[in-house]
Amino acid sequence: MSAVPLVAGDSDEALRAALQAIVGERGLLCGADMAGYEQGARYGQGRALCVVRPASTDEVSAVLRLCAARRVPVLPQGANTGLVGASSPDNSGRQVVLSLGRLRSRCEIDALDRSVAVDAGLTLQELNARLESHGLWFPVDLGANPSIGGMVAANTGGTRLIRYGDVRHNLLALEVVLFDPPGQVLRLGSALRKDNTGPDLKQLFVGTSGAGGVITQATLEVHPLPRQSATALVVPGSDAALGELLQALELELGDHLAAFEGMSGAAMAAAIDHVPNMRNPFAPEALPEFAVLIELEAGALASVTGLPLQDMLDRFLEAQFERGTIVNAALGHASALWQLRHALSEGARALGRVVAFDVSVPRSRIMAFRRAALAMLEAEHPHLRVTDFGHIADGGMHFNVIWPHEAVPAYDSEAVQDLRDRLYALVVDDFKGSFSAEHGIGPYNLRYYHCYTDPAAIALADGIRELLDPLRLCGAVDFGPDPALAACR
Ligand SMILES: Cc1cc2nc3c(=O)[nH]c(=O)nc-3n(C[C@H](O)[C@H](O)[C@H](O)COP(=O)(O)OP(=O)(O)OC[C@H]3O[C@@H](n4cnc5c(N)ncnc54)[C@H](O)[C@@H]3O)c2cc1C
Repeated sequence: MSAVPLVAGDSDEALRAALQAIVGERGLLCGADMAGYEQGARYGQGRALCVVRPASTDEVSAVLRLCAARRVPVLPQGANTGLVGASSPDNSGRQVVLSLGRLRSRCEIDALDRSVAVDAGLTLQELNARLESHGLWFPVDLGANPSIGGMVAANTGGTRLIRYGDVRHNLLALEVVLFDPPGQVLRLGSALRKDNTGPDLKQLFVGTSGAGGVITQATLEVHPLPRQSATALVVPGSDAALGELLQALELELGDHLAAFEGMSGAAMAAAIDHVPNMRNPFAPEALPEFAVLIELEAGALASVTGLPLQDMLDRFLEAQFERGTIVNAALGHASALWQLRHALSEGARALGRVVAFDVSVPRSRIMAFRRAALAMLEAEHPHLRVTDFGHIADGGMHFNVIWPHEAVPAYDSEAVQDLRDRLYALVVDDFKGSFSAEHGIGPYNLRYYHCYTDPAAIALADGIRELLDPLRLCGAVDFGPDPALAACR
């Protein structure tokens, strides 16, 4: 490995040649080969100068040294499943996309410590496949297969957050490569659970969309694989009853509660109509307006009552039927119910252009928020549809607004901007919620970071960035002040 020296002003060809000298022929993509790296999963599409695919931390370090010397911006990319436009290049054609997809050889499992040190490019499914034979898993669970580095940079949440927390909660240590000093490799934290020895600097790279450095390795806390699970899809008697059901579950079976996922009838209908192999789990009855997917988990012997977990859940649900907190339950195998849950995004996409709202509010107010948002849409944009679903127990809601392909009026970006301003104001001002619950910050929602973040916090973020990456070369997002993104209120 030897980097061709470069100075600012050298040609793009010279830069590509120098990058290839670091990563080898297989490690550099140009032209049409870059297509899959230039388009985001939901938002974002641009042009890259080239895609560089280092296979080791040393190669990442050499790439950053080279790009720092040449003042070339670098966009780290994992599996490119992010939903805020932060993993695809802009339209300048000047960014080097640094894909971590080949950095995947290390996966050191310590079963007794319940930790794993893993390269950033390994995917979640690959990690879980390797953990399985040790009776372990990394339970941040979602309907995509992201890379571990991308999950750290996005601080991924998912469907089991109430039981296991988000990525931040399960992160023990990080290895990061910096732009300043160029190419410096920083190792932060350790596999220790107790290590109170100063500021927790690894958090600077969690949920910050690659701003400030490239994550090359993570050490994660992993968990025993559940040996029993029990699943049910139920219809709450009312909005208030949904809250009562959740409280009763936590009081009576809280040790086992792993998921409490809300799904609107509209979201289920879109998936059933447009995603192969989906069926209405309430058939022959119609879909309800709103249902909740409940999952309990336990070890092989664990059970509060001595009953198998599914019997415990059934007994609990019978009592809830009698109390009226639930009025119906679906039939269906757990895997079919989860397939339906994970097909909701695809179903929404089939209906039209999705205007996504990944928001959270205090969970005590989540159904009130839903009613208020639906009423606002009905009054102001009756031609739009909503296919919402959410992680109800943690207050998270994917309030997906659909502009149907056949709608009149046709899609209008100014109207969408206005809708987004109004709906985020409802979330943040009226319901004291968050405009980005779990997908993080990217070009798609940066405007609202500037609307709703305290200027003092923006100034602090700017100071931190100045230390880590004074030339602002790394990532798609700068958390410092941006006069161009004027306040939206
Ligand atoms: C169908 C579907 C369902 C989803 N469900 C959920 C869900 O339930 N909960 C949830 O939280 N998210 C969800 N997501 C969003 C997404 O999967 C997560 O944000 C994911 O963790 C991103 O990981 P990635 O490897 O794809 O990262 P990318 O999309 O490649 O990148 C995401 C961000 O991280 C940065 N980045 C990536 N790798 C690195 C690195 N090594 N070092 C520094 N920065 C890096 C990128 O620059 C970008 O800013 C879903 C996505 C899809 C498509």
